Amino acid sequence: MTTVGEQICYSDAYARSVEATVRHVDAGDAPLVVLDRTVFYPGGGGQPADRGLLLRAGDGRTWTVRAARKVDGEIVHELEPGDGDPPAVGDALRVDLDWARRHALMRTHTALHALCGVVWRDYRASVTGGNMEPGSGRMDFEFETMSGDLVDAIEAAVNTELLAARDVRVAVLPREEAFSIPDLIRTKVNLLPEGIEQIRTIEIVGLDLQADGGTHVSNTSEVGRIRVTGYESKGRINKRIRIALEDT
Ligand SMILES: [Zn+2]
Repeated sequence: MTTVGEQICYSDAYARSVEATVRHVDAGDAPLVVLDRTVFYPGGGGQPADRGLLLRAGDGRTWTVRAARKVDGEIVHELEPGDGDPPAVGDALRVDLDWARRHALMRTHTALHALCGVVWRDYRASVTGGNMEPGSGRMDFEFETMSGDLVDAIEAAVNTELLAARDVRVAVLPREEAFSIPDLIRTKVNLLPEGIEQIRTIEIVGLDLQADGGTHVSNTSEVGRIRVTGYESKGRINKRIRIALEDT
């Protein structure tokens, strides 16, 4: 059993390209490729998987990666059907993200954390779920007192925090240590599976701390301003807030 390939997205969200070697190929209608290292994010936590290209150094041939996902802990790249024969095991490739899309996702993802942080700080409402596309996203809250009247105040408070140029820090903590942090408990870190010994955290310094596997920008100033584009009541308790980046 070999160790899994290097997963650079978790330690360096700004890495958009890397040289890699093919370790495994599943030929098929949409071929699946495993590499010894990659910059692709496999999706999860509401953030869609990356797209991009594989470029073979030897002959300049390229393949479009239309999606990625994690299978048994390994990041698998799914190629566009119809791109011809897939690369072969041992091929040297350059892995290139669709960076414009990924960076928009990093900004959107960070904006959603700012929204969570503000809603928790100002209203003590916790998050139950979320989802995003490049440039827009939504979060669901247990937020009984939410009403349309609060939209403007929430938007203004989120923008104040983003423009405050707060650093965004990534850390990996032992499970026990993570469990002792009250702010993490509210994001239901205790629901993480038993087997996970290391917990990755994302902190918007002074505003928000969450257990999280996604990619984010390193300072909130990189997000710019957001707009609250929608608010829906999903029942007495559950409320959904939609946001969009002002500048995408
Ligand atoms: Zn996140």
